[in-house]
Amino acid sequence: MKSIEPRRRFLQHTLAAAGLASATPLFAAAPMAGGTALSVHRMKLGAFEVTSVLDGFIELPPTVLQGDPALLERTMKAGGLAGGPIRTAVNCFLVNTGARLVMIDCGGAKMLGPTAGRMPQALAQLGIDPGQVDEVYITHMHGDHLHGAVTPEGAKVFPNAVLRISKPDVDYWASPAVEAAAPENQKGRFVAAKRAVAAYGDRLQTFELGAELTPGIRSVPAVGHTPGHSCYMVGSGDARLLLLGDTLHVAPVQFARPEVTVMFDFRQEQARTLRQDLFEMAAKENILIGAVHLPFPGIGRLRHRDGGGYVYDALPWQMY
Ligand SMILES: [Zn+2]
Repeated sequence: MKSIEPRRRFLQHTLAAAGLASATPLFAAAPMAGGTALSVHRMKLGAFEVTSVLDGFIELPPTVLQGDPALLERTMKAGGLAGGPIRTAVNCFLVNTGARLVMIDCGGAKMLGPTAGRMPQALAQLGIDPGQVDEVYITHMHGDHLHGAVTPEGAKVFPNAVLRISKPDVDYWASPAVEAAAPENQKGRFVAAKRAVAAYGDRLQTFELGAELTPGIRSVPAVGHTPGHSCYMVGSGDARLLLLGDTLHVAPVQFARPEVTVMFDFRQEQARTLRQDLFEMAAKENILIGAVHLPFPGIGRLRHRDGGGYVYDALPWQMY
């Protein structure tokens, strides 16, 4: 006790000097924080680093799902999605290969409402200046993947980056003729492409589906959701991660029943076959998968489910 008393007096003196002393102890409840603090998750993939960046979420009406109504109802119920809107994450993936810093998909900015568009703050959390990003790869030119590459004023979010998108997707979404021929209620789908083309100019470079874009990152042809939809295989040493883009929208339904499509799929049959093929490859070869619309951080593995379909095992959060 003798030794504690002087310490206590010293502490009281120090707190008083700092203006922190209080006559009565404080046990007040802490204020509510109002949102998640963490929206980045970093892991090793071979010699690469892959950082999931949470841009936010969007809500989809259940009617986006296309398939046999009874099957949909049963599968949604089993997946805990009865009735209401389906909340789905919007993730982006930042890959550091050691030679290049590559952003894969960019989220939806505020163009999709207030619940997305946090990617720039997430990069700030990481201490990354957008000017450090060398290349930006987009899976396809829908707004929830591309709007985030452009500021509200129409400038490049990544001032030094090359923006790379597959040629068939650019040929379709950036074509005034295609837009002019589209039904009136679908013209809004061309806005993201137009803004990106205007912002990046000759810094927008197309590629052929299947091309290697930088050592360790290759396009995987995945046409069906859009005319030039590209997935990406990220590989370092034996480690592989297949970024699925919009091969998947509603995890609790489409892993169990990969034949279920969404109304945004450009060619329903092609999208269905492609999803089945990519899921099968990932399960068979035990390749990590990552997807924009998987619950954050959006990386895990697939295995075969008894009776058909797949089970998704989210990768536990890594401490590197
Ligand atoms: Zn999407």
